[in-house]
Amino acid sequence: MSFSHLGLNPNILKAIKEQGYTTPTPIQKQAIPIVLEKNDILAAAQTGTGKTAAFTLPLLEIMNSKKNKNHKHHIRALILTPTRELASQVAENIQSYSKYLPFKNVVIFGGVGINPQKAALRKGVDIVIATPGRLLDHISQKTIDLSKVDFLVLDEADRMLDMGFIHDIKRIMTYIPKHRQTLLFSATFSEEIKSLSKSFLRNPKLIEVARTNSLSKQVSQVVHYVKKDIKRDLLASLLHKEKWNQVLVFTRTKHGADRLGEFLNKNNISSLAIHGGKSQGARTTALRDFKAKKVRVLVATDIAARGLDIELLPYVINFELPNVPEDYVHRIGRTGRAGNIGEAISLVCDEELQYLKDIEKLTKANIPVKPIEGFTVSKLNRVDKKTTSKNSSRRNSTRISESTETKNTNRKDRKTSRREKSKTQEKFDFKKEIDTFINKRKKVRV
Ligand code: AMP
Repeated sequence: MSFSHLGLNPNILKAIKEQGYTTPTPIQKQAIPIVLEKNDILAAAQTGTGKTAAFTLPLLEIMNSKKNKNHKHHIRALILTPTRELASQVAENIQSYSKYLPFKNVVIFGGVGINPQKAALRKGVDIVIATPGRLLDHISQKTIDLSKVDFLVLDEADRMLDMGFIHDIKRIMTYIPKHRQTLLFSATFSEEIKSLSKSFLRNPKLIEVARTNSLSKQVSQVVHYVKKDIKRDLLASLLHKEKWNQVLVFTRTKHGADRLGEFLNKNNISSLAIHGGKSQGARTTALRDFKAKKVRVLVATDIAARGLDIELLPYVINFELPNVPEDYVHRIGRTGRAGNIGEAISLVCDEELQYLKDIEKLTKANIPVKPIEGFTVSKLNRVDKKTTSKNSSRRNSTRISESTETKNTNRKDRKTSRREKSKTQEKFDFKKEIDTFINKRKKVRV
């Protein structure tokens, strides 16, 4: 099947061709016709399989078919993402797919000046790609009008509906019309997120290209059991010996990312760190230099785990395993994208054994353990219950703090905005469900 069989107009086809796409990916084949028929969708597909085009192309097609001669810009589509980097990337994709159409888009996120965003909004745009915090700033300052939104897309939807973002999403939804088309995309969905999301989707079609939470077959995985205090030596040794030239390394904390980056640089392995504690300028530079292969290693927290598309990235290393198993799927999904192969290496110490088990349970996979002479141990001690429960409470707080860094909304604005809530255009009809969900989650995690 080619793109022309999907009922897309020639201007979109021309733009796709210039991107070098010849055939639609499985998620595109399935999602595009269903979105064109104006259905809401809940779509699960593995990382790196073309989800951005799967929602953008039909959206552009519908917008284009409805436009009149004197096209007037107003916000028709709102796309929400969990990180600034992903928002930028989605905006770049939309820009190229809509190159021959009269639509304008703006990307909105914190950590950069708000005035250029206000100016773009004043001039008029059709598509807004945003992270929730800065979008709420615009809402409270009345610099954005979401009353004519026809399409809402939640990219990395499970993350957007998780504890760290759910309150913001809940508020944003009160500013957009009830009658809209809602599209939810992610590689991972828990059962509770699935049932929550159904409460604000209208007769959604469920699209599952591969089993939810499954890993791409393009990525080979390996685990090294290693004592915590020699992890960084093992990492440096691997990087020296294997001569890997582009490696994304994940740590669990911002501080840990900085320290590891410094250690690697001292050991003549060029590296930069990217995390929520860095200025937006430093984040952008780090990602750009890594993509351009100016540095060998990018040390990142989970802000780089979602959606980022780094062309032909061959290696992902989990210096520490994530404490939320879904994050593992997203982290290693940075490699093995668009049909290429990749390798995911995890350095696992005693206290992470439970995380490894959680990951294997979620992905229904046994990750092979490989020894490395002089560094690894053959067996790890079991984690006792006490440690596990301590870790689960940390699991909750880490997730929340990671997301707050993307919000960056000042409290005063939020108060003003709360007052405005009484003037909202629609009654929030899934509030009860969300509150139940949040309470349930609190009980499980605290
Ligand atoms: P995404 O999952 O949207 O981040 O896309 C992953 C990668 O696949 C990106 O580099 C896209 O440019 C690429 N891609 C998306 N659709 C296609 C297609 N139909 N053919 C070839 N590459 C594609």
